[in-house]
Amino acid sequence: MKTIHHLIDGKEVPATSGRTSAVFNPATGEQTAELGLASVDDVDAVVASSKAAFAEWRSVSLARRTKIMFNFRNLVDQNTDEIARRLTAEHGKVLSDAAGEVARGLENIEFACGIAEHLKGSYNQNASTGVDVYTVREPLGVVAGITPFNFPAMVPLWTIPNAIACGNAYILKPSEKDPSAPQFIAELFHEAGLPEGVLNVLHGDKVAVDRLIEHPDVKALSFVGSTPIAKYVYENGTANGKRVQALGGAKNHMLVLPDADLDLAADAAVSAAYGSAGERCMAISIVAAVGDIADPLVEAIAERMGKLTIGDGTNADSEMGPLITKQHRDKVAEYIGIGADEGATVVVDGREQQFDGDGYFLGTTLLDNVTTDMSVYKDEIFGPVLGVVRCDTYVEARDLIANNPWGNGAAIFTRDGGAARDFQENADAGMVGINVPIPVPVGYHSFGGWKDSLFGDIDMYGPEGVRFFTRPKALTSRWPDPSTSSVDLGFPTNG
Ligand code: NAD
Repeated sequence: MKTIHHLIDGKEVPATSGRTSAVFNPATGEQTAELGLASVDDVDAVVASSKAAFAEWRSVSLARRTKIMFNFRNLVDQNTDEIARRLTAEHGKVLSDAAGEVARGLENIEFACGIAEHLKGSYNQNASTGVDVYTVREPLGVVAGITPFNFPAMVPLWTIPNAIACGNAYILKPSEKDPSAPQFIAELFHEAGLPEGVLNVLHGDKVAVDRLIEHPDVKALSFVGSTPIAKYVYENGTANGKRVQALGGAKNHMLVLPDADLDLAADAAVSAAYGSAGERCMAISIVAAVGDIADPLVEAIAERMGKLTIGDGTNADSEMGPLITKQHRDKVAEYIGIGADEGATVVVDGREQQFDGDGYFLGTTLLDNVTTDMSVYKDEIFGPVLGVVRCDTYVEARDLIANNPWGNGAAIFTRDGGAARDFQENADAGMVGINVPIPVPVGYHSFGGWKDSLFGDIDMYGPEGVRFFTRPKALTSRWPDPSTSSVDLGFPTNG
């Protein structure tokens, strides 16, 4: 059995805790690796390595940092298939989806290739006579990223390129469930010329996270995961004086108005609800069907669900893979029964679909007549279960989002400009789609939800990412009037 170790100073270093965690292939249920989990001493050793690396990296020229970033971009691009293979082997998502994940990560590396432009700062000449004032952005020091299982390549790439390009040293603590893709990405960064210790990978669980939270040499934490842990990391990280951005869970609504293009809306609902087995923080989990489109929409979604091929992600025909663990699959399946007990209409029951082997598969589920008091509405299920809430009016549907504790993504499907404009202004979520079900911003904008979907003030990646990983320094300088210079500058003299 392969054991996965920390990656410190570019070398594999075994964990010293004696504790391990098993890594599985969710499509077969087989254990494929063992992961060494960090002790407090391991965390301290990683932070010491990162601190030493930061002392030199912060002064490396922008030209060199840019060159390394370009090399890294090309290596990730060339190794897309290998990264995707690792993603599918440990996460389960289908290979095409895994390659798409790498493509979205590449956008963030490409943004960081322009770091010289993003770090230009600002300058005022003669704020007072002979006095100039200028502001530069400096790196923070050692920063850490703690990432979830569902995007093991893309989410680390939301923050690593900007953090490193800005001159920080970065410690990645990936999910224990699928660590091989992020480990490989870190190896590629070293191959691109990144000095040892500027990017370290630390494997671990709560013990590692708690030590990162309290370690005085860790200056910032970027967290992505479930809402309770995001809140915990935010509250404890800030209490320890750190800068923290902590992205949490979601319950994303897609409004479908009576005038919407039915086929477009049904296609979008199916791909956004069931893609990656619904294990996406921007997945659509509630369709709010307004007025008389509800019946034909439910029918159109159900019809498309019947045509979805679910199977091992390495099979080219598969459109949806397994869930991440057996426990999670069973929990999601349990919600279908809970929904039925609560009064929802089970239009398609994913539990009825049978699969060979021991993989963590579950069919897709459609629940109609969901109401806001049901736990299938209130909880983040994070699986292939889509609920339909029937609304009489647009405003009733829009207010569902306002009254929901989460505010990650929200989408509307309509041909009406007035409704689209109102939704753009009044949808109570950080990322809004108009006839686009999953409005994840491109790499040169920034990603962040509202309410319980993000704790902190600064979004991830893009311009906000550069702000997060730098702090401003304002300088004021005075130089004497050049005519009084002790060196003869050759100014013409009077008379
Ligand atoms: P999770 O919260 O269980 O784990 C996330 C990270 O926190 C992992 O690295 C894990 O090791 C660590 N962790 C887990 N328990 C901990 C504890 N008690 N103390 C300290 N650290 C702990 O999340 P997950 O199951 O890996 O990922 C799925 C969740 O992530 C979903 O809720 C999903 O919505 C959310 N997510 C959000 C976004 C976003 O952008 N808002 C993106 C992706 C995923």
